[in-house]
Amino acid sequence: FPMWQLRRLVVRHHFLSGCHNRTITDVTHHNYDVIVVGGGHAGTEAAAAATRIGAKTLLVTQKFETIGALSCNPSLGGVGKGQLVKEVDALDGLMGRAGDYAGVHFSILNRSKGPAVWGPRAQLDRERYKEFIQSELLSTPNLTVIEGSVEDFIVSPADPGKPGKSRVTGVRIANGVGEILASSVVITTGTFLSGSLFMGQTTSPGGRMGEPPSCASISYSLREVLGLKLGRLRTGTPPRIVKDTIDFSLAELHLPDPQPTPFSFVNKRTHCKPEDQLPCHLTYTTPGVDRVVRESLHVNSHIQQDTKGPRYCPSIESRVLRFPGRQHQVWLEPEGLTSDLVYPQGLSMTMTPELQLRLLREIPPLHRAEIRTPGYGVQYDFICPMQLFPWLQVKRVQGLFLAGQINGTTGYEEAAAQGLWAGVNAGRTALSLPPLSLSRTESYIGVMIDDLVSRGVTEPYRMFTSRAEFRTSLRPDNADLRLTLRGFEEVGCVSSQRYSEASRTSCALSEALFALRSVTLSSPRWREKLRGVGISEAKSTLVSGEEMLQHKEVSFEMLASIFPEILAPYLEFSQRIKIEAVYRPHCENQKREMVRIQEEESLTLPPDIDYLSLPVSLSDEVREVLDRARPDTLGAATRLPGVTPAAVVHLLNYVTKTE
Ligand code: FAD
Repeated sequence: FPMWQLRRLVVRHHFLSGCHNRTITDVTHHNYDVIVVGGGHAGTEAAAAATRIGAKTLLVTQKFETIGALSCNPSLGGVGKGQLVKEVDALDGLMGRAGDYAGVHFSILNRSKGPAVWGPRAQLDRERYKEFIQSELLSTPNLTVIEGSVEDFIVSPADPGKPGKSRVTGVRIANGVGEILASSVVITTGTFLSGSLFMGQTTSPGGRMGEPPSCASISYSLREVLGLKLGRLRTGTPPRIVKDTIDFSLAELHLPDPQPTPFSFVNKRTHCKPEDQLPCHLTYTTPGVDRVVRESLHVNSHIQQDTKGPRYCPSIESRVLRFPGRQHQVWLEPEGLTSDLVYPQGLSMTMTPELQLRLLREIPPLHRAEIRTPGYGVQYDFICPMQLFPWLQVKRVQGLFLAGQINGTTGYEEAAAQGLWAGVNAGRTALSLPPLSLSRTESYIGVMIDDLVSRGVTEPYRMFTSRAEFRTSLRPDNADLRLTLRGFEEVGCVSSQRYSEASRTSCALSEALFALRSVTLSSPRWREKLRGVGISEAKSTLVSGEEMLQHKEVSFEMLASIFPEILAPYLEFSQRIKIEAVYRPHCENQKREMVRIQEEESLTLPPDIDYLSLPVSLSDEVREVLDRARPDTLGAATRLPGVTPAAVVHLLNYVTKTE
């Protein structure tokens, strides 16, 4: 068998024979350090991370076979989300390696812009993704996986000295199966918490199509027993189309990058060979789509609800209503190497299956499309995340951690990143180690968690590069330097092999930059050599190799061919050295700006300032927030939800200039 088929057989065997997993009755007599509830993207990373910390961990999930399931789009990464995948990987999480194993179409988005905002992305083979995650979990020592539905928590009063606080000491499995005790519990129930599915005018209980929701008693306990504030959000998914019924000749062909770039720092190449990658296709909606949406509104209950959905990934119904008459993109994405289905990204919808078919057939390449499974919507409870500490523990409940969609986020990457960090802290708490936070200056994970716990959510939260004030330092290429070293030395969730490799890279980059600074390019001999590799006279008067490298057309390879004895040892890191050299001045500038904001916290903002027409670069959203809140000081402006640090810098520059 090829390796991947062998792995698949091994995973199936483990699940079917139960040889790696215990039955529920086996585990009810055990005491665990950490119990993770839910085997989605948050739960699997949480369980794996807690185990890496050294905690004896149990993962309880409703169905073995859906562990690591991609509920919606068969893709990973993108702009902002790709950064999260790299950071999860840098902390030794599963997601990046799973993406490299399951990817069938790799591309770097935003390549025309700077590497800080490049978005590593891949289309995935759904089955392979699950297979990788399941196989990793089953081969993790100290981790037990069981199938079961948690219906409640075991709660006791916290320390007598802390009135009003509770402590969670375990979980209760549904159907009277039993109780399991643990020092920490991580809940990652995703879209399943009091979940309802919507299609046309039909509503049914469910967390995902064909799967029941979490027991209603969980929402009840969180709200009534533990006193937490819950809210409700929604999302939706498109119908899956039979591939053979699509006329791809009527759509634009989009090829992957010729050379796939792996997500993981430990992989030199992806599992899928470059030539085996699958294409995507792009098409557009037509006026006929608008017509079907409008004519079906009265029989589409999901769209009539007030519950907030994902603003940046809206249903086709929401798009048509918000932007009438506009053509919308529809990406036709492969579901896997051997799958006969196609995922139409951009066509999430909740009308009846008959109307869904009518709508699809209004799009030229889909004029004879057949649907295998219809689209639907889901509404679910979430916990308002301002009730959490930055280490994702519930403030008023000791031992209880939350991660993923339950915290009001949307997306696999956002869920995985929180899961990893909640797993780390649940493990550390259980082992009597102090909890840890990630700062906004060191990671996108830190930005996301800080946004969640300090600003809360009013709609499903997803990651964008614009949310990070330090994005020139928080690049996908340097996630290992930012996180792997700390992950090993302080957090304890990174393996020694990964740490050694990251340390080697870190040393090589520092040495290479030092070496570049040591070479000067002004002597006639170098000038001649530079001309030889196509670098002009004017540029060759620059002083150091590092400055030279900051020029777009100068590559590290060029300089290494001129100074082979000094630079050739670092050729393996050429691209990374180039990026470091280009970004160093920006990063230093950025740090200075942040210090300036901190120093000017008490700067008074003029009371009559007209935010709506201020002649500076501010988004409409930020202008509206500032106009509504009218903060007295710069510090107050920085703390307003939605006001980005970049906006604060513009405001500061404007006010100090006009003073
Ligand atoms: P999930 O992946 O939902 O996993 C939850 C897990 O918990 C499941 O394995 C479930 O079986 C288990 N579980 C639940 N309750 C219990 C219990 N009581 N006991 C034991 N186990 C339990 N994201 C986007 O970014 N864009 C989209 O357009 C989008 N559309 C979506 C459409 C639909 C219909 C759905 C269902 C999801 C969509 N998502 C979308 C969201 C994406 O799937 C989630 O963000 C991501 O999967 C969340 O990961 P999670 O780990 O928090 O939860």
